[in-house]
Amino acid sequence: MTQKRFNRILLKLSGEALMGDGNFGIDPETVQRMALEVKAAKEAGHEICLVIGGGNIFRGMAGAAKGMDRAQADYMGMLATVMNALAMQNALEQLGVDTRVQSAIQMDQVCEPVIRRRALRHLERGRIVIFAAGVGSPFFTTDSGAALRAAEMQCDALLKGTSVDGVYDSDPKTNPDAIRYDSVSYSDVLAKDLRVMDASAVALCRDNGIPIVVFSIRDQGNLAKVMAGEGVATVVE
Ligand code: UDP
Repeated sequence: MTQKRFNRILLKLSGEALMGDGNFGIDPETVQRMALEVKAAKEAGHEICLVIGGGNIFRGMAGAAKGMDRAQADYMGMLATVMNALAMQNALEQLGVDTRVQSAIQMDQVCEPVIRRRALRHLERGRIVIFAAGVGSPFFTTDSGAALRAAEMQCDALLKGTSVDGVYDSDPKTNPDAIRYDSVSYSDVLAKDLRVMDASAVALCRDNGIPIVVFSIRDQGNLAKVMAGEGVATVVE
């Protein structure tokens, strides 16, 4: 149980959450399933910001490992997050959910630039705001982008949807005896390297008092439950 009800949240999904059973790219059926989850949470009366990673398409580190200039590769990664944002926008709008995409790298023909006050207005009007391109700078990740937007949008929590139902003391996929935490402190996450999110993202949440709620996005209806304070999750606070 997460216990607290969150009114305004930022949901961070990794790009892999859009991949489905494949090992690359965007699976439209999976995106639609994610969009249904988001729609259900929205209809329960919450305000939602979204950040989607780009790892299903391109990661800067992977490019750099093959000899690319890291910054150049990171810009490619940021562009990948814009593609994912547009895919999610499309899926949500097909379900009748009003959305706006705001990108940290300006792309006037396809989406808005990040303008905080405008984003707040969108939320007030019941729209979902999808923030793309992370923080807009190389050497960062979308985890940091999610923490940054959660802080500036004054979100009650940063929800991190993953393939497992919380944070464990070791990898539950390889260790059947792994123990799940109901709650864990920011400092334990950093000291024990629990890999909830990037250290810089965790530190930003800690410094701004934003709880990080780690939960499974794969269980249907779980997002709405967690937002209502009823689902299974680990709260980092
Ligand atoms: N990226 C970046 N700056 C940012 C956000 C993202 O350079 O502020 C690049 C970086 O190369 C990263 C890629 O975009 O690897 C995709 O984002 P991320 O790895 O966070 O995606 P996820 O793992 O969540 O799918």
